[in-house]
Amino acid sequence: MNVLKLGDVEIHRVVEIDRLPVTLDLLFTNATPEIVAANRDWLGDGLVEPDGDRLFVSHHSFVVRTPALNILVDTCIGNHKPRASMPAWHMLDQPYLERLSAIGLQPEDIDVVMCTHLHADHVGWNTRLVNGQWVPTFPNARYIISRAELAHFEGLHRANPTLPVARGAYQDSVLPVIERGLVELVDPDKALEGELARHVSLENAAGHTPGSMNVHVRASGAHACLCGDILHHAIQCAEPGLASTGDFDLERAYASRLGLLQRCADTNIDVLAAHFPSPTVGRVVSHGSAFRFVFGA
Ligand SMILES: [Zn+2]
Repeated sequence: MNVLKLGDVEIHRVVEIDRLPVTLDLLFTNATPEIVAANRDWLGDGLVEPDGDRLFVSHHSFVVRTPALNILVDTCIGNHKPRASMPAWHMLDQPYLERLSAIGLQPEDIDVVMCTHLHADHVGWNTRLVNGQWVPTFPNARYIISRAELAHFEGLHRANPTLPVARGAYQDSVLPVIERGLVELVDPDKALEGELARHVSLENAAGHTPGSMNVHVRASGAHACLCGDILHHAIQCAEPGLASTGDFDLERAYASRLGLLQRCADTNIDVLAAHFPSPTVGRVVSHGSAFRFVFGA
């Protein structure tokens, strides 16, 4: 997708890393080569490597452009961030802001940043390194974070301030925006307020993390669901029991994933997950006792 149009609202994808091959054990706790083999035909070479069983994932943000607001959903990994525990994310130097500029937006133009959750690959561009300091990348934005999500990660940090939380992302990508007073805490079970509520609503999708949330965008009868990490890879449509290695609460994560698939299946909801490679957008369709993902808007 380059741009998904929902009436007068547009959703753009800003790529940080497209099509990164990831081993099964890095992505899922319970995947096997046999499960990949059983799904290889419908997934295709864009999602499973042709001569192996690594799965392709992408790291990207979505920018929801309404007539009044530029809303950035999830901010990827970020540049220059030490992530020794995940080599593919370590000390990146990606032209992410140039790609944002290519859709006509400078950091100052972002009005709202929404993090579906606070893992390191969803908050990275919250900040950037300027003169040795982590400063908010989007100085005019309010950063919307789930209250339960922040409480969880803040608790981990308080319990041991020297231990890197979320691979260090809490300290370098979340704390600086809190300290600048840019964070607005929300309860995803409650409606948003003001202009933002005109097209956007949140949905509690706890499980992957304690405060994970889906972002729904509606305009002119069209509906898109930005579902963060509730689905990591399209193979989970056919195999909803595949659990992400990052899932905090396996049972609740499964319930959130299955609920999303059931509510989206065979509807006109465009599903935009945080790690589905190009073309990224697609729809969930029923298939036997489970589902498949059909790419395309
Ligand atoms: Zn993620």
